[in-house]
Amino acid sequence: MGRIFLTHLGGSRLFSCASCDTPLTNRSELISTRFTGATGRAFLFNRVANLGFSDVQDRIMLTGRHMVRDVSCKNCDAKLGWIYEFATEENQRYKEGRVILERALITESESFDDNPGVSNDHN
Ligand SMILES: [Zn+2]
Repeated sequence: MGRIFLTHLGGSRLFSCASCDTPLTNRSELISTRFTGATGRAFLFNRVANLGFSDVQDRIMLTGRHMVRDVSCKNCDAKLGWIYEFATEENQRYKEGRVILERALITESESFDDNPGVSNDHN
């Protein structure tokens, strides 16, 4: 009784624009959750789709000087975070071309694609 079924779909969780639900990226592109944005917790992603970009800005961060662009939702123009164009510190170079999305500005949801290759044993 009270058994909880956890569903492992083998698919990815989706991250979408919190304002208009446009899908942006998924869990497999997530690199780190240990970033901080203007609104608090922020996530670093490998690739993000459906973005608009601002001009490059020179920004001094806790981890050094970076060239970044603000990124916004291509559909509704809501600000979502920023993308690293260039990092001056050698040990921050892994962030170049990567995208920060602020947790408060996106929603995370399960995708429900069926995965017929996985057998379900709950019964
Ligand atoms: Zn949007």
